[in-house]
Formats: sequence, structure tokens, C-alpha cells
Amino acid sequence: MFAMGEKHALVLGGSVAGLLAARVLADFFDRVVVAERDALPSTISNRRGVPQDRHVHLLWSRGSSILEDLFPGFTDELIRAGAPRFDGDLSKVYLNNGGHPLPASGCFDDFQFVLPSRPLLEGCVRQRVRRINNIELRDAHDIVELVTDRDHISGAVLRRRDREAVVDGADEIVEADLVVDAMGRAGRTPALLDSLGYGRPVEDSLDVRLMYSSFPVRIPPGALRELAVVIGPVPGRPTGMALFANEDNTWMFTVSGLAGVEPPKGLSEMLAFIEKFAPMHVVAALRRSEVIGEGAQHRMPATRWRRYDKMKRWPTGLLAIGDAICSLNPIYAQGMTVAAMEAELLQQCLRQGSGALPPCSGHGICGYAASGSVAGVRFLS
Ligand SMILES: Cc1cc2nc3c(=O)[nH]c(=O)nc-3n(C[C@H](O)[C@H](O)[C@H](O)COP(=O)(O)OP(=O)(O)OC[C@H]3O[C@@H](n4cnc5c(N)ncnc54)[C@H](O)[C@@H]3O)c2cc1C
Repeated sequence: MFAMGEKHALVLGGSVAGLLAARVLADFFDRVVVAERDALPSTISNRRGVPQDRHVHLLWSRGSSILEDLFPGFTDELIRAGAPRFDGDLSKVYLNNGGHPLPASGCFDDFQFVLPSRPLLEGCVRQRVRRINNIELRDAHDIVELVTDRDHISGAVLRRRDREAVVDGADEIVEADLVVDAMGRAGRTPALLDSLGYGRPVEDSLDVRLMYSSFPVRIPPGALRELAVVIGPVPGRPTGMALFANEDNTWMFTVSGLAGVEPPKGLSEMLAFIEKFAPMHVVAALRRSEVIGEGAQHRMPATRWRRYDKMKRWPTGLLAIGDAICSLNPIYAQGMTVAAMEAELLQQCLRQGSGALPPCSGHGICGYAASGSVAGVRFLS
């Protein structure tokens, strides 16, 4: 129940985009509920709703600096948790983009990043969000429906999940002035909007037929001078690899194939696969590595942009963020940074107050509607 005059927000999905949205909303709403299907771990670990967390993840410096603004001291926290820091010294990375290797000497002042594993990054964001008094993380809840009040989304129906089994009769309506869809690429918002009579967005998609195959490994200290190795595809070779140093002297090793080329799943086969294009010292270091966890594969048939901006009707009180709008080709490592930029844009909009036109930037907003004193904004990635 609402206390009189209180403003509530509901975020659907508790991954990176949802957590960042919640952090921003907490400054403008009395109460923010984040509903997430997974039982969220209290330790740093993989989880089912984010299968991509078993593959290389890089947060570009733009994303890092937004996280630092939202959570002061965040970068140091990651470093204290063991995430290696790339300080711009080009001898510490091997980057080969489109067949053009970056020179291994010199230094970039404005190209720096930290290298947490994806579970560590999300876990640290989640810990920060948990410390914000007016945010409630309601995990182990499935979002099954949106609730409408005429042309306004006024909440969602949450269904409790108990040890992966759905508990009968455990539905609850959570009301909110603003509902944010952060359910990612697999989120069912287009179907939910359709069932409410709004229709579905058209989708722009780019056929990539991408597959990742990954293993977490430990490489003997000193066996590799680089902290990150990224080799992208070239015309005629739609394959690549990435190897990132992460916390606790662990590394994530991923091989990829585009255009339907399927990379192998076993470590020795993956090493044979990269021998054709990776520098010998990288292959040699990986040959000395020890597998420290399960291998994982991920397929993405196409990138997808839900064109909510082109819908004829759109309810007030609803916005979408992150992969729920646009899921990009992971080889460019943009998804989390785009989600962070969208969270920053949401902050700018809310700072301007209801009715004010948001700044329309390149990664920008395509629609804006006032709903009471709450902004209903739609973002495009
Ligand atoms: C293989 C791969 C590699 C990637 N590598 C990078 C990288 O290097 N750098 C980078 O920046 N980005 C990368 N990305 C993209 C990045 O993972 C996402 O952009 C990022 O996680 C933000 O996504 P999101 O929060 O919008 O959605 P997601 O991370 O997909 O999270 C959606 C959340 O919603 C929950 N959910 C879904 N449906 C429901 C429901 N009905 N009820 C309740 N909860 C629900 C899920 O459990 C999940 O927690 C990669 C993606 C893939 C697939």
C-alpha cells in the first residue's frame, strides 16, 4: 500500500540495467521495488537469469565512469575485490580489431578499465543497491503481467517462486507510479503490451548467428604479460577470441564464431581453434592454464532492437532500459555501458522534472510523456 502522497517505482528485472535504474530512481521516488525472477545470491556467483555471466565481460571506461558517479568509490571497490586494472599501458593488452593490431607500446590516458568478472561486477552493484534504504530487492519473483489503469501502466503482477517451483496462489500486485522494464532480451514486455491492446513493437534485427564458447581458467603468474587479449573477426575469418584477467588470478577465455561458424566446446579444441589467428605467446600461456570451472556456450542468432519509438500507442508510466530495448552484438562489449548511459539519461530527465523535454542525445530518448508528476520516458539504445 502507498502512504499518502508517496511516489513509488517498480523495476522489472534485477540485472545491471535494472539495478542502475533503481539507483537513479531512488533519488526521485519514495520507494523503489526491484522484482527479479532469480533468487539473488549474497555471494559473488553465477546465476541462471544471466547466462552470459559465464563469458567474457568488459565494461568500457564510459560505463565505468557512470558507475563511479552513481556509486562513488566503486572502481576502488572492484580493485579491492581483486579486479585487475588496465592503466592505459599498451604493452598490457593485445587488441586486434579487423586485422589491425594495436601497437604494444605507448600509453593511453583516456583508455583505462578494470576487469572484474561479470558476477563480481553485478554483485558489487547489487551490494551497493542493497545499502540504499528506499530500495527493496524482491528476488525469486516472476513478473507475469503488467497492470493498467486506462492508458497508464500502474504496476505489475508478481508471482513468488520457491526453489524454482512456482508457488500456487502466490500472485501479488505491486502498484507503482512508474514501471521500468529491465527484463533483458528475453523479457516478455512486447507480448504483455500486445495482450493489453497496444500491439507489439516492430523489431530491427541484424543476423549475426554468433556463438561464444568459454572456460574460466587459471594461468600461471607471469606466463602472460597482457591483462586482456581481444582478437576480432576479419573478412574471410568470422572467428575471434577474448581472454581477460579477472579477480583472484582467474581468467575468462572465450572463443567466438559469427555467421553460423560454431566454435568448439572443449579447451584443447578451443586452443587448436585459436592457433590459426592468435599470437603464439598467448596460445602458449593458455596451454599452461588450468580449467577452474564449467565451460559454457551462448548463442545469439541476431541483434535486436525493439522499436518502441515506432509504436502507434504507448501507455504512460512505463519505460524500458537496457537489453529490454536493444541487445547488441556482444563482441563489441557495449551492453552494460549502454545500460549505464541510459540510466544516466533517466537521471537527467528526472532532474528536469515532469513535462520538461529531455536532452535528445545520440543514444537517446524517442518519446516522453508526463503522467501526473512522473515522467514516462522511452529510450532507444
Ligand atoms: C554472451 C554475452 C556477452 C556479453 N558481453 C558483454 C561485455 O563484454 N560487455 C558489455 O557491456 N555487455 C556485454 N553483454 C551484454 C550485457 O550482458 C547486458 O547488456 C547487460 O547485462 C545489461 O542487460 P540487462 O540488465 O538489460 O538484461 P539482462 O542482463 O539480460 O537481465 C535481465 C534480468 O531480468 C530478469 N528477468 C527476465 N524476465 C523476468 C521475469 N519475467 N520476471 C522477473 N525477472 C525477469 C532476469 O532474471 C535478469 O536478471 C554480453 C551479452 C552476452 C549475451
